[in-house]
Amino acid sequence: MTARALFPDVASLWQETAIDPPVLNPLEGDHQYDVVIVGGGYTGLSTARYLAAKGLSPVVLEASRIGWGASGRNGGVVSAKYRLPLSRVAARHGLEMAQIMRRLSLESVEHIEELVTAYSLEAAQYRKNGSLHCAHNATSLAYCAQEAHWLAAELGERSLHVMSARQMQEETGSPDFVGGVLDTGGGLLHPLNFARGFARGLKAEGITLSESSPVTGIRRVTNGVVVHTSHGTVTAKQVVLATNGYSTLTSATDAVRQCVVPFRSAMLATEPLTGQELQLLRHARSYTETRRMMRWFRMAGDRLLYGGRGAFGTDDSSTAYEALHRAMIKQFPTLAETAISHRWSGLVALTVDSVPQVGRLDDRVVYAMGYNGTGVAMSSYIGKHVAEVVTGSAPELGLIWADRVRRIPFYPLRVPVVRLVAGWYQFLDAIGR
Ligand SMILES: Cc1cc2nc3c(=O)[nH]c(=O)nc-3n(C[C@H](O)[C@H](O)[C@H](O)COP(=O)(O)OP(=O)(O)OC[C@H]3O[C@@H](n4cnc5c(N)ncnc54)[C@H](O)[C@@H]3O)c2cc1C
Repeated sequence: MTARALFPDVASLWQETAIDPPVLNPLEGDHQYDVVIVGGGYTGLSTARYLAAKGLSPVVLEASRIGWGASGRNGGVVSAKYRLPLSRVAARHGLEMAQIMRRLSLESVEHIEELVTAYSLEAAQYRKNGSLHCAHNATSLAYCAQEAHWLAAELGERSLHVMSARQMQEETGSPDFVGGVLDTGGGLLHPLNFARGFARGLKAEGITLSESSPVTGIRRVTNGVVVHTSHGTVTAKQVVLATNGYSTLTSATDAVRQCVVPFRSAMLATEPLTGQELQLLRHARSYTETRRMMRWFRMAGDRLLYGGRGAFGTDDSSTAYEALHRAMIKQFPTLAETAISHRWSGLVALTVDSVPQVGRLDDRVVYAMGYNGTGVAMSSYIGKHVAEVVTGSAPELGLIWADRVRRIPFYPLRVPVVRLVAGWYQFLDAIGR
C-alpha cells in the first residue's frame, strides 16, 4: 500500500488554508543521533527543540507529515484547562498539587506566545481573545461558577468572569445558554500553520525532521537503541514516544498503547457566513459547552467551526457528522440553511485519570502523551520537561509525572466501554443532569 493510502490527506479547513509545508525528506540509510523522537506533532516538535537547547542531537521521525495527527486537525483552542477540575485535584491530592498543576497550565499558554515570537509564527494567527465556557443548564452554571469562585479564592485566579444568560446571548448569538464563565487568558490559532511554522523553525536551527518515516521497530542494543523505519535506521541513546492518539499505528509503540484510549473528535466548518450570521461569536473567542459530551465552536475568518464527538471505533462515519450538524443547528438555529464546506476528524488520547502523562518506561524509553483533547498548549510546552527527563533530571510535573505506567484497566474492552460511557453521558445531558 502507498504512503498516501496509509496516511490520506485530511480534508480540513486548515489543510486548505495552510502555508506550504517545509521540505523534510524521509529517513534513508543508517544514522546516529543522541535521541530519536517518534511522532511529529506538537509533543515531538517541542521535545526536539528543548533537547537541542541542551546540546543534544535529536531526530524527529514522523510516519506521515508534520501535523498529520491531532496537531494539524484540532480546533486551535489554546486554553489552560485540564479535563480534571483543579478543585477536584485539590480535594484528592491537596492544594499544593492544584497549585503546581495550575502553574504548569498557565506556563503552557504563555509558552505559545514564546514560540510564536521565537519562530515568527504570524501564519499561526494566534489571538488571545479569551475562551468562554457556556452553561447549557442551571446545574452546570452553578457548578462552573462555583469552580470559578474556588479558583479565585484558593489559587488567586483573576482571569475568570461569570456571565449572565443575556450576556451569553449577546456574546454567542445562540439562545441556548443560561450563563457561562469567561476566561480572558485563552486564545485561538491556526493549528496546522502552527505545526508547520514550528517545524520550519526547527529545521532552520539545524534539527533533523524526517517525514514519511514510520518507526516499525525499536531494538535495545548495548548502550542504546536501534530504531527502524522502512528505509533506514537510527542508533541512539534514548527514544521519546510522542505518538498520543496514534500510538497504534505500528507495533513499535506497543509499550505505551495501553496508556491511552484513542477517541475520535470531529469538526465541521461552514461556508463563509454573510449578513446577520456574521454577528455570531463576534468576539472571536473559543467557546466550549458544559455538556459531558462536550461540543465547542469558534470562528475561523468568517466561517463558524463546530466540533464534538466523532464516530466510535477506527473509522470515520457520516452518521457522526450528521449528528454533529444537527447539534450545531439546534444551538445556532439561524445556520439551518448554511452549507457545510469541510468536515474532518482526528484522534485524541484519553487517560485513566484525565491528565497527560510523562514517564519513563526504562532507561532507554521516555513517553509523553494523553492530553484528553485539550493539548494544544500543553503538548507544545511539555517538551521542555521531557528533555529534563531524558537528561536525567526530575522536573516538577505534578500529576503529569507518571512514576509508574498508568495503563487503562480492561484495555481490550475499551471500545464497548467508551461507547457505553458516552451513551450514559449523552443520556444524562439529555435529561439535564
Ligand atoms: C479534532 C480535534 C480537535 C481538537 N481540538 C483541540 C483544541 O481546540 N484545543 C486543544 O487544546 N486540543 C485540541 N485537540 C487535542 C490536541 O490536538 C492534541 O492534544 C495535540 O495535538 C497532541 O499533540 P501530539 O504531538 O501529542 O500528538 P499528535 O499531533 O496526534 O501527533 C502524533 C504523531 O505521531 C505519529 N506517529 C504515530 N506512530 C508513529 C510511528 N510508529 N512512527 C512515526 N510516527 C508515528 C502520527 O503520525 C502523528 O503525527 C483536538 C484534537 C482533535 C483530534
